[in-house]
Amino acid sequence: MANLIDGKMLSLEVKDNVKEKVKNFYEKYNKQVCLAVVLVGENPASKVYVNNKIKGAEYVGIKSLSFTLPQNATQDEVENLVLGLVNNDEIDGILVQLPLPKGLDEEKILNLIPAEKDVDGFTAQNVGSLFLGKPCISACTPSGVIKMLEKTGIDLTGKNAVIIGRSNIVGKPMSALLLAKNCTVTICHSKTKNLSEICKNADVIVAAIGKAKFVTKDMVKKGAIVIDVGINRTETGLVGDVDFENVKELASFITPVPGGVGPMTIAMLMENTLICAERRINKR
Ligand code: NAP
Repeated sequence: MANLIDGKMLSLEVKDNVKEKVKNFYEKYNKQVCLAVVLVGENPASKVYVNNKIKGAEYVGIKSLSFTLPQNATQDEVENLVLGLVNNDEIDGILVQLPLPKGLDEEKILNLIPAEKDVDGFTAQNVGSLFLGKPCISACTPSGVIKMLEKTGIDLTGKNAVIIGRSNIVGKPMSALLLAKNCTVTICHSKTKNLSEICKNADVIVAAIGKAKFVTKDMVKKGAIVIDVGINRTETGLVGDVDFENVKELASFITPVPGGVGPMTIAMLMENTLICAERRINKR
């Protein structure tokens, strides 16, 4: 039976550490760490995520400023809002909640954010630095996964890590972070052949697909570490991309949904915001 990697508990550890540092930051510089959160439109899941992020900021003592634009906001309106935040010196980090409503150029909007305020680690500059192994802000969800893997105490060097999903926000940055941990990394996607066999050979599986209970017991090697990034809303509630009840019989470590990667994402966002604030103030 697998050990549970408790994201709720670990995220509290991370947030308590950030909280202490945010307090020290204020005492040292007489400035509150400040995060701007932009929500465009009415996506109900996005509203929940934004609220959780604001609550996370409150917990660690980061000042959050919320900006909302209607579903029919134009590209110019969103760009002008973001540019205002870029030029506002009080603001240390800018988060634009994704996905943006259809018709908006997401990439163009994200790349208005300078790397030093890019708390999500989504801009081309931060992603490029991540893949080059240079100092950067790396995406919150994959960074949270790495913290969870570190918590197992297992040396990842030489392990076969299989990521299912190649999105810009999870799969791709996850691959760079696992490579930096000296894993042998395979990224799978919807066109991958023999997915089950590839997974069966994995010491670490990171599932980021967006399909409920996609990873089944027959795809998992005994003793594998299984990290479930997926969040799927079903009639029976929130479930991950992993068939948790059956896979936990085989895995050595597994993350639950909810209470796994989700809370870690918020905690890493707080850590990233603090890092941005520290880097900005030290540049002055
Ligand atoms: P996404 O952009 O939709 O990407 C899904 C990936 O899964 C794609 O690369 C897709 O392949 C691949 N895929 C789809 N069907 C597949 C199949 N049958 N076999 C193999 N690969 C398949 O999703 P995302 O934004 O990365 O999110 C993935 C999941 O994680 C979602 O459930 C999302 O809600 C969740 N999530 C959770 C957090 C958190 O904080 N816990 C954060 C972000 C996302 P192609 O590229 O070929 O289409």
